[in-house]
Amino acid sequence: MELLKKRISEDGRVVGQDVIKVDSFLNHQMDIALLNEIGKEFKRRFNGEDINKILTVEASGIGIACIAAQYFNVPVVFAKKTESRNLDEEVYESKVFSFTKSKNYNIKVSKRYLNSEDRVLIIDDFLANGCAAAGMMDIVRQAGARLVGIGIVIEKGFQNGGKMIREAGVRLESLAIVESIKNNSIIFSEEKKGENNK
Ligand code: 5GP
Repeated sequence: MELLKKRISEDGRVVGQDVIKVDSFLNHQMDIALLNEIGKEFKRRFNGEDINKILTVEASGIGIACIAAQYFNVPVVFAKKTESRNLDEEVYESKVFSFTKSKNYNIKVSKRYLNSEDRVLIIDDFLANGCAAAGMMDIVRQAGARLVGIGIVIEKGFQNGGKMIREAGVRLESLAIVESIKNNSIIFSEEKKGENNK
């Protein structure tokens, strides 16, 4: 998605060897016009698929998933990371290692909001080693729901998450794939002709 790649090139910042900060438009301040285009692009890519629910994880995924959901006309369920007395007792739960915080946490989804009738699209902001995606895939599996695909805004192609998901036979649509980071600049994967990219 050219608009997104242009924005990452202009406003993204590299931290250390492998972290991309996009706080000015995605992870802190949010550019809603851009998020609308991202939502439309997810809809374009998954058009015709039988999706009745979008699953994401708090916090950064929520805004992206909610805007995309308006184009799919489906509800969003977000996995909770924080302990809360408000959460139902009957939950699906999975352990996730956080790439940015370097620690494990549990994600939980109430059994009320995901079941074997559901056809789920997972949406998240970044894909690095795939731990967050694997946790959500595990929750979809526990619910007996059907995983239709995974939509990612920024995939870091030099980490293993994309490979893991594709090898699991799951449809993965990443709107921008970063191939490498060299001398603080972000290099994107070449899009192959005929690929489902804009
Ligand atoms: P994974 O679980 O795939 O290793 O990492 C994905 C999660 O970690 C995403 O939900 C995102 O919140 C965070 N993350 C991973 N890499 C980056 C990055 O380079 N920049 C930012 N802002 N978040 C990242």
